[in-house]
Amino acid sequence: MSAEAVVTAQRLTKIYAAHGKQQESVVAAHDISFTLHAGEILALIGESGSGKTTIGRLLTGIEKPTTGSLQWSSTLASGRGLGQVQMVFQDPYAALNPFNPIRYTLTRPLINLRHVSPSEALEQARAILKTVQLTPPDQFLVKRPHQLSGGQRQRIVIARALAASPQVIVADEPVSMLDVSIRAEVLQLLRKLMVTRQIAAMLYITHDLMSARALAQRVIVLYRGRMVEAASTDDLLSNPRHPYTQLLLASIPNPRRAFRGESMAIPVSSGLTPSAANGCPFAPRCPQVEEECRQTAPNPEPLPDGRLVSCHVVARAANQERGAAKPQTTAPGN
Ligand code: ADP
Ligand code: MG
Repeated sequence: MSAEAVVTAQRLTKIYAAHGKQQESVVAAHDISFTLHAGEILALIGESGSGKTTIGRLLTGIEKPTTGSLQWSSTLASGRGLGQVQMVFQDPYAALNPFNPIRYTLTRPLINLRHVSPSEALEQARAILKTVQLTPPDQFLVKRPHQLSGGQRQRIVIARALAASPQVIVADEPVSMLDVSIRAEVLQLLRKLMVTRQIAAMLYITHDLMSARALAQRVIVLYRGRMVEAASTDDLLSNPRHPYTQLLLASIPNPRRAFRGESMAIPVSSGLTPSAANGCPFAPRCPQVEEECRQTAPNPEPLPDGRLVSCHVVARAANQERGAAKPQTTAPGN
C-alpha cells in the first residue's frame, strides 16, 4: 500500500509480570509489527486472550510496551498527549460514569483537551450528538447512562472519543456487547466517521471475522499474542494461508455472504496450554503440524502476494514455488 503511514508499530512486545494471584508472567503481545496507513481501517482479529486489547492499549499509550516502539507520523508525534488517539471500549456500560450526565461527558474533553469555552463546548457537543445520530441532541445532553439503551450508550462512548478530535480511533470490540439487531448500524457509523470527522486511520479490534470483512481493508490475525497472518481482507477471506486462519474460515458457514449484524465468533481454544515455550504457539491445535513447529516458533514471512504468514509449512511451500518458478540457468545434462 502506498498511502502515508499514520503509525508504525515496530516489534511490540508486552509482558505482564507475575503478581499476586497471577503466578506466571504473561506474554500478552509478542514481536508485533504493522503499519496503519492513512485512510485505512485495519482489523485486529483473534480469540479471547490473543492480545488484541493489549495492542490497542499500546497504541493509545494507556500501556507502555515492554520492548519495541511506535513511530507516529509527524502530525501525530506532537499531539498524542492531546487525545489524538482515542479508544472506544467494548463495554459501554463500564465505560461511562453513571453519575455524569451526557452533557458533562461530552463537554469535558472539549474543554480540557481542546480548550474551548463552555458555551462553545456545548455547541460542539450538540453537533457531535447529531454525528452519532442521537437527536434531538438536547434531549440526550440531560440524560445519564442508565437512561439510555446499550446502542445509545455506545454512540455516547463514540461521541466522547470524537470530542477529543482524534486522528486515530482504536475501536475495541465496539459492537460485541450490543444487540445483534443494531451491530451493523454502529459499524456503519464508525465507517462514516472516517470521512465526516476526518479520522486518519482506525484500528478495529474484533473476534468476529465477518464484521472485519464489513469494515476493514486489511486484517491482522493474532494467536496467543503473535501475528499469524496479515493480509488484505479480500486475500485473507478468499485464500487463507495460515492453518489457524483456515480454521477460522472453516468455522463460518458461508464466508462470502454479507455481514448482517450477527456475530460469527471465533471458537475459543480448548484450553490447551502453550507447548514448549519455543515452539509455534498454534502447534498443539494445528492439523499440519510438523516436528520443526514444536521446536521453533516461525516468524512472519512475506508471500509473493504481499501478505505475511508465520508458518514453517507455508513458508517452505512458498519457497518451493519460488524455486520452481526460477528459470533454469544451466541446461540439464551438461
Ligand atoms: P484480548 O483483548 O485479545 O482478549 P488481552 O490483550 O486482553 O486479549 O489479553 C492478552 C493476555 O494478557 C491474556 O492472557 C490476559 O489475561 C493478559 N492480560 C491482559 N491485561 C493484563 C494485565 N493488566 N495484567 C496481567 N495480565 C493481563
Ligand atoms: Mg479484549
